[in-house]
Amino acid sequence: MKIETEEISIPILKEKELRLFVKRIDKVHPFVSGNKWFKLKYNLLEAEKQGIETLLTFGGAYSNHIAATAFAAQGKGFKSIGIIRGEEHLPLNPTLRFAMENGMELHYMSRSDYREKTTPDFLEKLKAQFGDFYLIPEGGTNELAIEGTAEILEANDTQDYICCAVGTGGTIAGIINAATDKQTVIGFPAIKGIDALEKDIENWTSTSNYTFINNYVTNGYGKVSVSLVEFINEFNTSHNIPLDAIYTGKMMMGILDLVGKDYFPKGSSILAIHTGGLQGNKGMSERLGIKLPS
Ligand SMILES: *Cc1c(COP(=O)(O)O)cnc(C)c1O
Repeated sequence: MKIETEEISIPILKEKELRLFVKRIDKVHPFVSGNKWFKLKYNLLEAEKQGIETLLTFGGAYSNHIAATAFAAQGKGFKSIGIIRGEEHLPLNPTLRFAMENGMELHYMSRSDYREKTTPDFLEKLKAQFGDFYLIPEGGTNELAIEGTAEILEANDTQDYICCAVGTGGTIAGIINAATDKQTVIGFPAIKGIDALEKDIENWTSTSNYTFINNYVTNGYGKVSVSLVEFINEFNTSHNIPLDAIYTGKMMMGILDLVGKDYFPKGSSILAIHTGGLQGNKGMSERLGIKLPS
C-alpha cells in the first residue's frame, strides 16, 4: 500500500538539526481511518473464514474503533453490534450516529457491567442474547490486530525514531515488531496509568527497542486542555495536517516539546505516525463548544 509521508518544516527542527516526518495513515481510508483499518484487516478475514456473520465489539460513545468497525462491517457484508459504555444520550453524537447509519446495532451498558465485559460469564450472556458472533475486543486489539498494525511500518520507513500515540497498545506493538534494531519506537500514551499497558506490550512484542513518554497526558484520556486545542489548530493552519484531540495532537505536542528539550540527538530523523481519529473531533467540538479540524 502506498502511504504518504510528509516532511514538516519548522525553524526549531532546523536549529536542532533534526528532520521530522509524518506518515499519514489517517488517509488510508476516509472513514475507517488510520490504525483501526490495520487492526480490523485480519480480524475481518478471520471472521469470514469462520463463516461468522456478525461482529460484536465494545467502545465508549466517541470511540474511533466503534465508527471504524461499523463502517468496515457494512462494507464487507457483516452485521455489527456495538456495546456502548454508559447510557444512551439523544440525539446521538456524531460517532454513534455514524455507526448507526452504517448498520451497527447499538446496545448501552452501565459502567459497572461494562467493566465485566471480558469475563467468561459475561460472554456467555452475550451469546445467549445475540447468538453467534465474532468478538473484537474494545479498541480492536488482539493478536490478529497486531499482525495488521505491523504493516504500518514499511521497509522504506528508515527514520531513527518512530513515534506513535498509544491507547490499548495494539498499534505500537505491531510497529515495535516491525521496527529494526536501529530504530527506537516512542509511545505517547493517551491514558495516565501505564503499568498494565507496559505488561501487555511485553507480551505482544519480542524486542525492547521502545520507550513510553507519559508526560503529555495532562488531564487524562478524553480531557482536552486549551493549549492542546490551540496547538492542534495552529498545527493545522501551518502544516495543513489535522490532528485529533485524544491521540495524535498530544503525540505531536509531545514530540515538539522533546525537540525543544534536546531529547533527540543532533542529526536524527523522526517519523510520527498519524493514526487518524479525526472522526472524534466532531463530537469533541460539539461537546465542548470548541473548534477542532476534521
Ligand atoms: C485507537 C487509536 C489509537 C490507539 O491505538 P491502540 O492500538 O489502542 O494503542 C491511537 N490513535 C488513534 C487516532 C486512535 O484512534
